Formats: sequence, C-alpha cells, structure tokens
Amino acid sequence: MVDSAGARPGTHDGAGDGADGHPPVPSPGRRARHVVIIGGSIAALLTARTLSDHADRVTIIERDRLPAGPEPRAGVPQSRHTHVLLEGGARALEELLPGILAELRAQGSPRVGMPRDLVHWQSGRFYRRTASTHHLLTGTRPALEWLVRRRVLADSRITVVEGTEVVGLLGDASRVRGVRVRERGARTRTEVRSFPADLVVDASGRGSRAPDWLAGIGAEPAHEETLDTGLAYATRLFRGADGPDGAECPAYNFTPDGRHVRGAVVLPVEDGRHLVTLSGLRGNEPPSEEDGFTGFAAGLGHPVVHDWLLKARPESPVHAFRATASVRRRYDLPGRRPAGFLAAGDALCSFNPVYGQGMSVAALGALALRDALADPRRTPTTRRVQRALLDASRQAWKIASGADRELPGARGNATGTRWVDRPGAWYLARVVERAPGDPVVGAAFRAALALTSSTAVLFAPPVLRAVLFGPVRPTPSAPPANPEPAAG
Ligand SMILES: Cc1cc2nc3c(=O)[nH]c(=O)nc-3n(C[C@H](O)[C@H](O)[C@H](O)COP(=O)(O)OP(=O)(O)OC[C@H]3O[C@@H](n4cnc5c(N)ncnc54)[C@H](O)[C@@H]3O)c2cc1C
Repeated sequence: MVDSAGARPGTHDGAGDGADGHPPVPSPGRRARHVVIIGGSIAALLTARTLSDHADRVTIIERDRLPAGPEPRAGVPQSRHTHVLLEGGARALEELLPGILAELRAQGSPRVGMPRDLVHWQSGRFYRRTASTHHLLTGTRPALEWLVRRRVLADSRITVVEGTEVVGLLGDASRVRGVRVRERGARTRTEVRSFPADLVVDASGRGSRAPDWLAGIGAEPAHEETLDTGLAYATRLFRGADGPDGAECPAYNFTPDGRHVRGAVVLPVEDGRHLVTLSGLRGNEPPSEEDGFTGFAAGLGHPVVHDWLLKARPESPVHAFRATASVRRRYDLPGRRPAGFLAAGDALCSFNPVYGQGMSVAALGALALRDALADPRRTPTTRRVQRALLDASRQAWKIASGADRELPGARGNATGTRWVDRPGAWYLARVVERAPGDPVVGAAFRAALALTSSTAVLFAPPVLRAVLFGPVRPTPSAPPANPEPAAG
C-alpha cells in the first residue's frame, strides 16, 4: 500500500523520503497491519472505506462521542447549515457505498432538479426553469453522515474510538509511526496514550492541527494557500406555509457576488421542512440572532425569499458560522515530510461553503485514493498518493478560488488574478452571463459546478460558439413560479 514519500533512499530531496532503514510499510502487495484515521466525519469514514481493502485493521479516532441517530454534534458545527450533495459527489458516494443514494432517498432526503426545481438568481438575473440536467440532494448533513457512518462501520475491520482526541504524531521527520491520543477533557500529560500505526490519515477537518503535529516530530508543515471572502452564514429551520413538499416545493438560491453581497438558499430537507441559509460577504454579515434574520432577506436582489419567510414558521434558533475561508494545504509540494502520513478531506483542502463542494470532494478523494492504491504501474508512495488526493480537489478549488479571488474584501495569499488567468476569467464571465438564459451553456456550467465533468465541458464546440458569438438570451424578469413546459 503506501510506502515511502517517493524520494531516493537515504536523502532528503525536498519531499521527505521515509528513509529510516526500515522496509517500506505497507508496500504494494502487502497489506498494512494497522491504519489510523484522525476524525470520524465524512472524509474519515469514506477514507476508511477505501483503506479497509488494504489493511488488516482501520481505527478511526474521533474526539466527539457519536450520537446514536442523525443528530448534529460539536465536532462538526457546520452540520446545522445547508449541506447539498452535488451530483459528482453523489455518484462518487454511490461507487464507494453501492445503494446509498436509494437509502438516502428512502430516509427522506429531497432531490432538487436544476434548473427546473430551483428559483436561481445570479448576477442580477433569474435562470429559466428549463428541463433539469443535474440534481442536488438537499437532506440535512447529520442525516447523511449518520447513514454513511452506519454503512462504513458495518465493516468489521473498521472500528471507532470515540471521545478521544489526537494530540500529536509518533515517529520522526522521515516516517510517522502512529498517533498520540488522550481522552477528551483530560488535562495531564500522563493521560496521553500511544496508538501505533503503519499509516496515519489526517481527516480532522478545516481546523486540523497537523501543522503543529508535524513540527512536533521535526517535519515541515505544508505551505497553506488561503482565500477568505469573509462570507458569513446564518441558518434556521422553517416549515413553509405551502405545506408538505411535492414536486413544486420551493427551492431558492441567490448567489452572492461582488455587486450583490447578500445571498440566500432555501432548500427542502427531510420531513417537509426547509433549511434557510442567509449569507453575506465581509461587512454584510447576516444577523446571528432571530431578530433581523427575516429582515436581512429583504436586502436580497428580489423580495421573493423575504416574502416566503414572512409566511413560514421557524422551527429552530438561528445558527451562525463565520470561518468560511478556502484553505489548501500543499502536502504535494517539496518539503521535509514523513512517509506514512496523508491528509484528506477538509484537512487537505477546504472550500468556501457557498459552492457546496466539501463532501463531494471527500468522496472523490476516497475514489482517487482507491485508484492510486490499485495502480499496478506505480508504487503508491506517500507523495504520489497525496498528490492523487489533492488532484481530486483541483477542479473544486479552481471553481471556488476563481470566483472568490476577485471579490471585494477577499483576503489571503491566493487572492488577485494573475495575467495568465485573465483570458479564462473573461471567458467565464461570458459563461455566467449566458447560462441563465441559454440551456446549452447552462447545462455545461452546471456540469462543471456539479463536478460531473471537467471544466473542458465549457469549451465543447456548441458551448464555445454560444459563449464567443451567441447573444445573451432573455431571462425571466421575475422569479419564475413554475417550470417551463418540456420542449418539443
Ligand atoms: C457552513 C458550512 C457549510 C457547508 N456546506 C456544504 C455543502 O453544502 N456541501 C458540501 O459538500 N460541503 C459543505 N461544507 C463542507 C463540509 O462540511 C465538509 O467538507 C465535510 O464535512 C467533510 O469534512 P471532513 O470530514 O474533512 O471534516 P469535518 O466534517 O469538519 O470533520 C472533522 C472531524 O474531525 C474530528 N476531529 C477534529 N480534531 C480532532 C482530533 N484532534 N482528534 C480526533 N478527532 C478530531 C471532529 O470532531 C470531526 O468529527 C460546508 C462547510 C461549512 C463550514
């Protein structure tokens, strides 16, 4: 399985070499005895699913005590906010856990067709509600995580150690040999225990302490790219006045941008309710209390969401979330880093949540890991496998950073457009302008955003023609209450 970091033995050529005199452990054709995964959330569970095919035992170490049902928990504070599963992520999830999409649907997770079932407003224009080309699964995050957890933990090789937090790594700059843990809430050093492992995967989320842990064993933390638009979320659960949801259930998406700094999503979840997330760029944050929540929606580009909220009944307090920066940790770049240590999920690359990408990228990462480990042509060195994991997040990063780096108030070392990016930004602006009214451009745009196609889909001949030479087609002047009749 994963062996050294891919450099010549006995050297430190910049990427770490794992040259510690020990044979590569684990290595191709040789199962790992024990893999430890830090964190017990979506990325950890899906990574465990993949690695259990290559290891005798996989231990997930999770700080929280895990709830018995689909409940939010402290370690995943974002779970109270809208969590869409993009179509690319849904397909990857199904490949990892066959049958899970049917189970999700049976559990009550709604499926929203785009653009047919969604009133979508972007850059001052409403999308036409033509036939859907893509779908979003919009059930709550705790319900999805609970289902994934039940499915993954049905594998007897995978166990979870709950209520236990990782506080450091075992090993040295050339090879990680396990983790140091303590029971949650323990304060003294004597309570720290060791957990030896052949491979350690950090899936502890966007707040990962891996930079400190690596420094603690004399290794180099990864270079971090950051892009922070200051986007803030406020979310509340509602029951709409329209009654139980059917095909015509309302779903709204107002995408914030440089000129329209407030956004909103209203999406159906289980039990005929709707989760409403209001968002605002730096300086325009939505209120984190009940007072003013509905009023904030009056400042959107159109009053339709505000009007819907006035008639709906709130069923939860308001929950706020502020730390929404996109952060990418470049473990793939040269540095003195150990073999036997990988980062996955948000610990590797986290995104501005407005694009709804993180869970999908976690699933795509688990597939990339599977493929990297199965590749008969290449030894799956730590560095190669890490690069495969990062590659699985590249398109999502390109989409999120491409849109965010130009926003007013964006901060971080990944802001600003380089001159080489200018033609792409110019082309993308024309795509965004045409997508609401032109079904061909709209379908291609959605395919890229949904991570079902590479961004090359935006340059397919009919799309290219429409983007370069076609007019900006008319769009509805008011929120379209109903889908357009099927063409033909
Ligand atoms: C506000 C918001 C909205 C979002 N909306 C969407 C969306 O619509 N669609 C989407 O796909 N994604 C969305 N995301 C991203 C999504 O939540 C994550 O990408 C997804 O949860 C996968 O993350 P993860 O498993 O890597 O980490 P997380 O889900 O953050 O989990 C990390 C886990 O590690 C545990 N942990 C942390 N430190 C330690 C430690 N030292 N020892 C042991 N355990 C530890 C935590 O308790 C937690 O269980 C959103 C994110 C935010 C912030």
